[in-house]
Amino acid sequence: MTEQTIFRKARLADGSLVDLHVMDGRFNAITPASAAGLSAGTDLGGQLVLPGFVEGHIHLDTSFYGDAWRPHIPCTNGFDVRERVAFQARNLSAAAPMAERAKNQLELCIGHGSLAMRSHVMVDGSVGLKHLEVILAICEKYRELIDIQLVAFPQSGILSSPGTPEFLDEALRLGCDLVGGLDPASFDRDVKAHLDVVFGLAGKHGVGVDIHLHDGGTLGLFQIEEIAARTTALGMGGNVAVSHAYALGDIPADALARAGDMLAASGVAIMTNAPGNHAFPPVAALRKAGVTVFSGSDNIRDSWWPYGDGDMLNRASMIGYRSGFYEDWELEAACDVVSYAGAKALGLEGYGIEVGARADFVVLKAEHVPEAVVAVPGERTVYRAGRVVAKDGAVL
Ligand SMILES: [Zn+2]
Repeated sequence: MTEQTIFRKARLADGSLVDLHVMDGRFNAITPASAAGLSAGTDLGGQLVLPGFVEGHIHLDTSFYGDAWRPHIPCTNGFDVRERVAFQARNLSAAAPMAERAKNQLELCIGHGSLAMRSHVMVDGSVGLKHLEVILAICEKYRELIDIQLVAFPQSGILSSPGTPEFLDEALRLGCDLVGGLDPASFDRDVKAHLDVVFGLAGKHGVGVDIHLHDGGTLGLFQIEEIAARTTALGMGGNVAVSHAYALGDIPADALARAGDMLAASGVAIMTNAPGNHAFPPVAALRKAGVTVFSGSDNIRDSWWPYGDGDMLNRASMIGYRSGFYEDWELEAACDVVSYAGAKALGLEGYGIEVGARADFVVLKAEHVPEAVVAVPGERTVYRAGRVVAKDGAVL
């Protein structure tokens, strides 16, 4: 059955005041705001309407959000991925059931307006498919509320963790949308062999790739080059992402310029959460080069750090703050990273506020996008396919 709904007096990002017409969960017309006196539909009162945010990198299986507080354990001698993985294993053994923790985190994100998500899920020799089975079931329960892509993520390495290639293969058969990786050089100490498994599985299953890469400097850049070269050779542009890519934040300007051109040409997207104490990819320079830069909360209350609130608008604010964005066009770019650029990185169909797109949107108490990014209004209403699903942070 078809049903027509009208949302009146919606303020779009370009400042125009319009009526949004929704039929069968999609925008079927966008017209200038109707004259006063009309009472049909919902009056948005000139509030800002943005498309649902894109949470491009999160870990649904390892968060303790809503569980008991876990004090952060510092590494003994500076940041060490292997040591953090060991802390995580210890913490998870005493955690509340995973389904409950994942549900808490999903509702946190949806409540803030994220309606599409990419979550990495541990799949390796240490946990096998146990995490994935729980997360697949919980995602199925939330499919009406949010689109979720799952990455089979080898948290304990691929070569370092016996059985991992086979588990990743099985995870992709079970329904993972992408295959992940983890610091091919510093963690597995064999870039070629690590990437052979990742890209081999991607080709076998016809899925995308999203690799965690913390390695900095020349070592990190070398791996980014290897990933870009394989992406080009395999014609996988648009389906490959490097998450974190800290190296891009600490290489000289000329090397960065070359890397930006290479990433743009190969179609490799970069995910950054603008971490607090790391050099991170220069968002403006990469965007200028034509690279798709997207973002995510990454860790929320987990064994890696205690921060995170699942609000991608707040993430846009952090990206802008850390990037030194002050001008309106820069603040709009920060918002783009958590919305349209995220949709491009995730390959979402029918995204945006336009005729034909899915009516997934967030209504905010803000005059325009720059104000939304700096003020991060908490008062907001989230619509999925034209129906209210969350208000002021709470899923209805
Ligand atoms: Zn991550």
